[in-house]
Amino acid sequence: MYDYVIVGAGLFGSVFARQMTDAGAKCLIIEKRNHIGGNCYSANLGGIHVHRYGPHIFHTNDDAVWQYVNRFARFSRFSYRPKVNFRGELYSFPINLNTLHQLWGVTTPQQAKERLEAERVKIEQPANLEQWALSQVGRELYETFVYGYTKKQWGREPSELPCSIIRRLPIRLTWNDDYFNDRYCGIPEGGYTKLFESMLQGIPVETEVDFLSDRCRFESMGKSIVYTGPLDRLFDYELGASDWRGLRFKHQLISQPDYQGVAAVNYTDAETPYTRCIEHKHFEPLECDHTVVTREYPADWSVGDEMYYPVNNDAGEALQKRYAAKLPKNYLIGGRLATYRYFDMHQVVASAMHMAKQQIRSVETIYPLRRVA
Ligand code: UDP
Repeated sequence: MYDYVIVGAGLFGSVFARQMTDAGAKCLIIEKRNHIGGNCYSANLGGIHVHRYGPHIFHTNDDAVWQYVNRFARFSRFSYRPKVNFRGELYSFPINLNTLHQLWGVTTPQQAKERLEAERVKIEQPANLEQWALSQVGRELYETFVYGYTKKQWGREPSELPCSIIRRLPIRLTWNDDYFNDRYCGIPEGGYTKLFESMLQGIPVETEVDFLSDRCRFESMGKSIVYTGPLDRLFDYELGASDWRGLRFKHQLISQPDYQGVAAVNYTDAETPYTRCIEHKHFEPLECDHTVVTREYPADWSVGDEMYYPVNNDAGEALQKRYAAKLPKNYLIGGRLATYRYFDMHQVVASAMHMAKQQIRSVETIYPLRRVA
C-alpha cells in the first residue's frame, strides 16, 4: 500500500513526491504520457534541448524555491529578452526605453515619461485588458504590441479579457529589457527532463498509464490520491467541460547555426497565424551548425486536446468550484490543470512544497512517517 498515489509526473506531482518521499512516505507516480516532466519536458534533438510544450524559463523571487530547484540541476545564467516582430519591424520587448527610442526617438526616461503621459488614454478604472493597456501605454503601443498577440493567443477580443492576464508584463522607462523582475532566473543545464530525472530518483513512476482507465485499482493502492489532471475529466465531464485555450507547435530543424539570434521573437500582428518563434539553442548556448525552432499556433480547444491556458471567466471559475466540491475526502489536488490556474513554474513548486509540509504536519498526528535521517 502506498501512502500517496500521485497522478501526473509534472512539476507539482514530482515536487510533492520528492518532498513526501524524503519525509519517509511511500509514493507511486502514474503518468499518462510516455515521459516525465509534464509540459516542462525537454527533448534532446541533436544536442539541443527542445522545450516541446512551449518555452519554460524558471524565474522566482523566493529564496526557498530557488534553493530547492537548484538541488536537482545547475541553472544557467539566463535572462529572457524577447524581441517583437510587428509587420516586419523588430522591436525591443517588454516595453522599455529601447522600444520607445525605436518608435518615437525619445532618449531619456523623462522624455519617455512625458510622451507616454501624452499617449495614455484616460480611463479611471480599466474594466478589461484592452482598457488597461490603453490606460498604461496608449493606442499606438497597444496596437503594435498587444492587440494582435492577445487576440490570437486567447481567441477573443482583448476587451473581453481580464486585466490580470497582462498586468504581469513590465513597462519600464529604463534601458532594462529583461522580461522578469525576479531576483533569480535561469534554465536547468542539460534540460528540464534531466532535472526531473534527478528529482524523481528512487521514486517509482509508471509512464503511459492512464489513472482513469483503472481508477478503482489505483485508488485501492494508495491511502491518498494526489490528482494533478483536470477535474472535469476526473468526473467524466458530468457537469460540463472547462474552457481552455489550445496550442499547436511546429518544430523545425534548420541547417544553419543561428536562425534568429535570440530565444524568442513574438509576432504581434493579428495576421501571422503564430504568436511566437522560439529558437531553443539560445536557452542553453551550444556550438553546432544546426538549430531547432518552434512556432506556436494558438488554437481553439475541445475535449481531448492538450490544455494550455485556462480561460478563467466567471463560468469557468464556477464550474471549477463545483467540481472541487465533489472531490473524495482522500483526494488532494495541485498544479495548473487540477486547479485551473495560469501558474508560473515557481508558483507550482511553492504550492507543492507547501502542500507537502501540511501533509507532513497532519499525517504525523495520524500515523508516524518513516523518517529518513
Ligand atoms: N502579451 C502581449 N504581447 C506580447 C506578449 C504578451 O500582448 O508580445 C500579453 C498577452 O495578452 C499575453 C500576456 O501578455 O497573454 C501574458 O504574456 P506572457 O508572455 O506572460 O505569456 P506566456 O509566456 O505565459 O504565454
